[in-house]
Amino acid sequence: MPEAMTIGVDIGGTKVAAGLVDSSGGISHKTRAPMVATGDAATGFAAVKDAVDAVFSKFPEAHGAVTGIGICSPGPLDPKTGVVLNPPNVPCWRNYPLAAEVERVFGVPARVDNDANAAGLAEALWGAGAGYTNVFYATLGTGIGTGIVFDKKIYHGRTGSAAEGGHMTIDFHGHLCGCGKHGCIEALASGPNIARRARARLAGAGASRIVQLAGSLEQVRAEHVGQAFREGDAVATEVLTETAHLLTVWLGNIVDLLEPDVMVVGGGVAELMSSFFESIAKRLSNWAINQRASEIPLVMARYGADAGIAGAGALCRSTANLR
Ligand SMILES: [Zn+2]
Repeated sequence: MPEAMTIGVDIGGTKVAAGLVDSSGGISHKTRAPMVATGDAATGFAAVKDAVDAVFSKFPEAHGAVTGIGICSPGPLDPKTGVVLNPPNVPCWRNYPLAAEVERVFGVPARVDNDANAAGLAEALWGAGAGYTNVFYATLGTGIGTGIVFDKKIYHGRTGSAAEGGHMTIDFHGHLCGCGKHGCIEALASGPNIARRARARLAGAGASRIVQLAGSLEQVRAEHVGQAFREGDAVATEVLTETAHLLTVWLGNIVDLLEPDVMVVGGGVAELMSSFFESIAKRLSNWAINQRASEIPLVMARYGADAGIAGAGALCRSTANLR
């Protein structure tokens, strides 16, 4: 009897990535196909089918071993029914029964969830959150996504819309967020907003290492700020120190709401900010009523670019997602 495997499928607006995920969260036989998000529903689904077929053709033995297919899809979606509702990034699907279609075509159970919930589950099962009961997960990147995993189960809330922690506001006069609210942590501390805050500081200033790395003020991205910070640049240090303060205020709220056993953060901005983790953890007690807030470990995620595949694979391992 071969080891039970799952296939994890990570759908974005432009690509579908898939891979085989084993029972300890190891990933193999990865594939990538372009996502056709703007055509009809069947064309969008064909891209998903192609990516899964490609995993099977790379590893034919998977046919007998795969016990489920998990899918990370842009939301909003209903994780209970596996129906994708009306994602702005994947306009081909409106009330589309993605899980049911995958089950019909491949003949194994399928689960659908958003990428941050799924990645949080993978960290709780196999990653930096393994060994902890209550896990708060955040992916800090182009956006900020969060997942709450209690006892290896994703906390979905009433309709599956819980854990949108990236859109908790910490400043109601703050910068306008893409979601329509002001001062969401995403509108302050995501990669593009780190770059925005850096550009605001640099406008009208003299020569800067950040601008030198970027080529021009307009081209400044968070990566340039990170590189300049590592080289000891003063403005980059100011911008990232401010980012650390913003994240501390936010995580203080999270601690007072959830008091998780661990906080796991992944994504490019998490890597950029990793040298601040210790000081964030130390200052948490200033921003939480919880007197033991600083005891909660703040750690880097196990999964990087493969978080979506691992997370999708994890969806079929958790009883939380049995429909
Ligand atoms: Zn927002």
